[in-house]
Amino acid sequence: MYLGVEQAAIPADCPPHLQFLYDYDGPIGENNSLFVSVSRPGDGRAPQGRATIVASSFVDLKDWGESADYPARKQRYTDAAIARLGQFFDLRPDHIIHVEAGTPRTFERFTGRDRGAVGGLGMRVNSFGPFGFANRTPIPGLWLVGDCTHPGEGTAGVSYSALTVVRQMTAGGD
Ligand SMILES: Cc1cc2nc3c(=O)[nH]c(=O)nc-3n(C[C@H](O)[C@H](O)[C@H](O)COP(=O)(O)OP(=O)(O)OC[C@H]3O[C@@H](n4cnc5c(N)ncnc54)[C@H](O)[C@@H]3O)c2cc1C
Repeated sequence: MYLGVEQAAIPADCPPHLQFLYDYDGPIGENNSLFVSVSRPGDGRAPQGRATIVASSFVDLKDWGESADYPARKQRYTDAAIARLGQFFDLRPDHIIHVEAGTPRTFERFTGRDRGAVGGLGMRVNSFGPFGFANRTPIPGLWLVGDCTHPGEGTAGVSYSALTVVRQMTAGGD
């Protein structure tokens, strides 16, 4: 969810990153948890007097890929996220300037990821660490990096996978 808002929507002393978990017994995802980044005045992400709020949540891909009511589902998620964000931010209608939502279909189209799975493989005990895809392959000269490989998701994990490969290659691996 990408929101352009009036600065008045942002509480005073708002931290730049927040993580919300609404129902502690509910899933960690599906709008029940939201990871939120907020622009700071003067950081270049929004004009003076305005701000950006970016919120993301994990979702089950199979519900989106074949959804018969995709536009309605997207709107439902958008409305629910705004309602939840509105518990912390002042999202009255005249504070909201721009609303855009990205779904797995969006990421599939614009990043070429299979079914829009940005973030790599879901991390579970049987796919984590030594049980995940290694960076080295049985094919000489072919290495794997990215968030589906060890150590996993996120820009830090992806950078580490690349660093691991570079170290092995420069140490004489093939
Ligand atoms: C909304 C959202 C928020 C996120 N927030 C965070 C965060 O706060 N912190 C964090 O650490 N991570 C975050 N992530 C996860 C992070 O973005 C990914 O884990 C990371 O970008 C994966 O890097 P990658 O290089 O493996 O793949 P990608 O970044 O997907 O790069 C793959 C590239 O390959 C290109 N490509 C695809 N197919 C082809 C082809 N056939 N030919 C040529 N090029 C091709 C794509 O266009 C793309 O540029 C977030 C992801 C999303 C979607």
